[in-house]
Amino acid sequence: MVIIMLGAQGTGKGTVAGIISEHTGLVQLSTGDIFRKNIKEQTQLGIEANKYIAKGDLVPDEITVPMVVEYLDSEIVKNGVILDGFPRSLAQAEKLDKILAERGKKVDLVVNLTTPRDEIIDRILTRRVCSNPKCKTTYNLKMHPPIKEGICDKCGSELIQREDDSNEESINKRLEIYDNQTAPLVEYYRKKGILRTEEVSIRINRMGKQVASDIIKDIQEK
Ligand code: ADP
Ligand code: ZN
Repeated sequence: MVIIMLGAQGTGKGTVAGIISEHTGLVQLSTGDIFRKNIKEQTQLGIEANKYIAKGDLVPDEITVPMVVEYLDSEIVKNGVILDGFPRSLAQAEKLDKILAERGKKVDLVVNLTTPRDEIIDRILTRRVCSNPKCKTTYNLKMHPPIKEGICDKCGSELIQREDDSNEESINKRLEIYDNQTAPLVEYYRKKGILRTEEVSIRINRMGKQVASDIIKDIQEK
């Protein structure tokens, strides 16, 4: 099974994908996390990708697509995958369809998360992530803070703020790229009949956790 998470930054894609992954055994593949791991380890891929990421730009397809293919072909994803952060443009979506078709697979479900913009900016600025690359749990200082300040509940590692989350300029640039390049994918997948849109917002008291559990229920019934 192949699931894609769509939605702007800060809508809770990573959180929802993580919960679905825990309950279904589908592997969560976050391109942003893979890039950050490579940046931390100073690999060639990381050094190259960071030139774009630090500025809030998309990493070129020549780097991103082969990296995703390598993961898709690896043993760990053989039972299925939740793609979190890929595809991010029509070109990537078309490439993904082709890559999957060559392997006798297809995208089964696209979960599109929507959140009002003012809420999004607030959520990104108050987002903290676990610094342990094996854990990567996301917190929010206002909505779901850790029990002990600055420390991950799950693994005890230090919580950090992502560099690209700390300034509004980078946040706005990423949101603009989302609107221009990624948002058209909503229509692309709607036409294929595999789109499921879910509003995640404190105003309607619907958060990622509930969305995830509804989706898990549907997956398990199938
Ligand atoms: P966010 O969604 O908050 O921007 P991510 O963790 O998904 O954060 O991604 C971090 C950065 O990694 C992005 O700003 C972009 O530079 C790069 N990136 C992630 N996924 C892709 C992708 N599919 N194509 C190009 N660049 C990507
Ligand atoms: Zn942790």
